[in-house]
Amino acid sequence: MELSLLTIIYLVAAVTFILGLKMLSSPASARKGNLIAAFGMVLAILGTIFFYRDEEGKVLHNYLWIFGGLAIGSGAGWVAARKVKMTAMPELVSLFNGMGGACAALISLIEFNHLSHSAGNLSAVSGGTLLIIFLGLIIGSISFAGSVVAWGKLNGRIKDFSFKGQHWINFIILALVVFLVAFILISRPETSGMLFYAVLFLSLLYGFFFVMPIGGADMPVVISLLNSFTGVAAASGGFLYDNKAMLTGGILVGAAGTLLTILMCKAMNRSIFNVLVGNFGGGAAAATGAAAGGARAVKEITASDLAINLNYSKSVVVVPGYGLAVAQAQKTVKELEDVLEANGVEVRYAIHPVAGRMPGHMNVLLAEANVPYPKLVDLEEANEMLAQADVVLVLGANDVVNPAAKDDPTSPIYGMPVLEVWNAKLVVVVKRSMGAGYAGIENPLFFHDRTKMLFGDAKKVLQDLVNEVKAL
Ligand code: NDP
Repeated sequence: MELSLLTIIYLVAAVTFILGLKMLSSPASARKGNLIAAFGMVLAILGTIFFYRDEEGKVLHNYLWIFGGLAIGSGAGWVAARKVKMTAMPELVSLFNGMGGACAALISLIEFNHLSHSAGNLSAVSGGTLLIIFLGLIIGSISFAGSVVAWGKLNGRIKDFSFKGQHWINFIILALVVFLVAFILISRPETSGMLFYAVLFLSLLYGFFFVMPIGGADMPVVISLLNSFTGVAAASGGFLYDNKAMLTGGILVGAAGTLLTILMCKAMNRSIFNVLVGNFGGGAAAATGAAAGGARAVKEITASDLAINLNYSKSVVVVPGYGLAVAQAQKTVKELEDVLEANGVEVRYAIHPVAGRMPGHMNVLLAEANVPYPKLVDLEEANEMLAQADVVLVLGANDVVNPAAKDDPTSPIYGMPVLEVWNAKLVVVVKRSMGAGYAGIENPLFFHDRTKMLFGDAKKVLQDLVNEVKAL
């Protein structure tokens, strides 16, 4: 009876995961989707705690440990998620993802010890079970170590690090891991216990070396890839325990992470191989690029002149970027939209898929300010719209409007699709200085004939613009 009840609970949980994931694909339903999937997860956890029976029909008994662990984990997660700034969200996602990988690896570690002790000797354990244990261990450890490095890089604590031939070392470590696992599976030597820890160590090392050289704008792709690794590692745990909820959840995370990785690579026009093996952004070439712009002059515009330009335009396109999120200016940009539209100006937003610091960052930010979704235009359509625009207002965006991506084959971001703002009649770039964006490279847009700069914090500049337009 209890077993079938647990199966039904797992089934309901799996359905909520699928529904939740589906609802995440639109900003309008994302919040609800998240809550539905979280509800399913709570259901699956409580169902397992109270209705699980082992082969002898015994229930779980160590409730103090279970609820103690749950309270600590939930408390830490709750506080971290409540306190995190929107712009630091990718770091948090990366850290949480790392914890998922660590859990999967720990499950493998515990089960390996449990099986080798209860079976007396490893030869009695089936090859399939051992393989799943190793998959969880290897993928989980890589995901853990890689995610922690990614977290450190995103918050600036860890710098990019690579040396000549590093990819070969990575390859050798991976080959060694595969060899050790094959050896244990085939010969089941006396030293299996020790070799198991060698596999754990080498996998952690691989995760570390795998992410260390990757930098700049490639980080979101790596995080998404590590996310899919964690999903696969969790699914291995699902196989091991014959737990349908864990299996479905893991497979969904694995598949969604893989799809997101592919979509992001497409948005940057790079192959996954190129992301993993080629260093992008941040490095020495990028730094010299940023410095080289110093001597050239830019044209500036005042807030009052810009207000006149905006007010007498037919079509204005806003390009939001990371700086808009930093300035927390989403509500002020909506205010500007409202005053301009009241005066008959059409205002729309051109959204680049990697604008900001996480996928969908701009959509979430603007949704928070109640900007209607139909006003958000995706890259391809936006490029047609930009050519017709009277004024394009680039608000704290940089890399995603860099023409070098189109016409400078030496640029690290060459080939990445960008918003072609320079085709509009007038481009105004709002930012605080001539500083570079995430990829650390110079932006020739600032020196373009049709570009004018308006230096300042995005929120302050937008507030000035709102006041100026109102005063006209
Ligand atoms: P960028 O990081 O290229 O540029 C942001 C600009 O905002 C900076 O040049 C900065 O200039 C300006 N800025 C910062 N603070 C303020 C402020 N308070 N007011 C006004 N301006 C400000 O941003 P983009 O959105 O154009 O591009 C995103 C980049 O991040 C891409 O390279 C992308 O690949 C990468 N990335 C994307 C992720 C994603 O999934 N979306 C995740 C991780 C990275 P200044 O200092 O002069 O003000």
